[in-house]
Amino acid sequence: MATKSRQKKSASKRRPLVKGKPAKKAAKAPKPDRPAGTDPKRVAAILAKLDEAYPSATCELNHENAFQLLIATILSAQCTDVRVNHVTETLFRQYPDAKAFAYATPSELEQKIRPTGFFRNKTKSIMGASKGILESFGGEVPRTMEEILTLPGVARKTANVVLGTAYGIPSGIVVDTHVQRIAKRLDLTRNEDPKKIEQDLMQVIPKDKWILFSHQIIWHGRRICQARKPKCLECNLESLCYAKDKTV
Ligand code: SF4
Repeated sequence: MATKSRQKKSASKRRPLVKGKPAKKAAKAPKPDRPAGTDPKRVAAILAKLDEAYPSATCELNHENAFQLLIATILSAQCTDVRVNHVTETLFRQYPDAKAFAYATPSELEQKIRPTGFFRNKTKSIMGASKGILESFGGEVPRTMEEILTLPGVARKTANVVLGTAYGIPSGIVVDTHVQRIAKRLDLTRNEDPKKIEQDLMQVIPKDKWILFSHQIIWHGRRICQARKPKCLECNLESLCYAKDKTV
């Protein structure tokens, strides 16, 4: 008899036979690995403030298509967007498509992209990615994370920039140095590893906001929440922020 009653009890856990009880437990269940800052109301308030400050934030790398954005994003590693735009202004005229980059003379391409830094590795990535696009994807940048990650020199950050900005596909959240820093300052993550930070953010930011949120945080990092001296007095997120290195 006692066993039967225990079985009944465990079955009842699946259905709210006792009014309110299971629902209450679910609502109270803590998310042990989530920081306090990820409270849904707080996250919604942060998103509203970002929309207020940066309603039309977008990628600042000049491009006319997904392929050019891919090349510009590879070039932007450890380099400012302004410098990349300066280089690509002539580069995209000299190398108009994937075929031109794939069969470039490496030493010539190296010199053309030299101002962006790490030019030897970037040349290898650009030529490798261009060949991959030609040989495996008919000359078009693929539209899935799985496929785009097969291209040499393309990791999740680049893939998210291209899929999100060029194709409008919310594949994930771009985690660059600004997003890394600000997600921590805003207590949306306590991880250091970009992949884990992205997973944390994807759990708390609604999917339909992933693309815009990435651009907004990058803009915020460039304009206000800078690494060394964040301009907290000018920040519209200040009332929601309790970062240790706030300047007000
Ligand atoms: S208050 Fe300061 S530290 Fe916090 S998000 Fe704004 S600029 Fe960054």
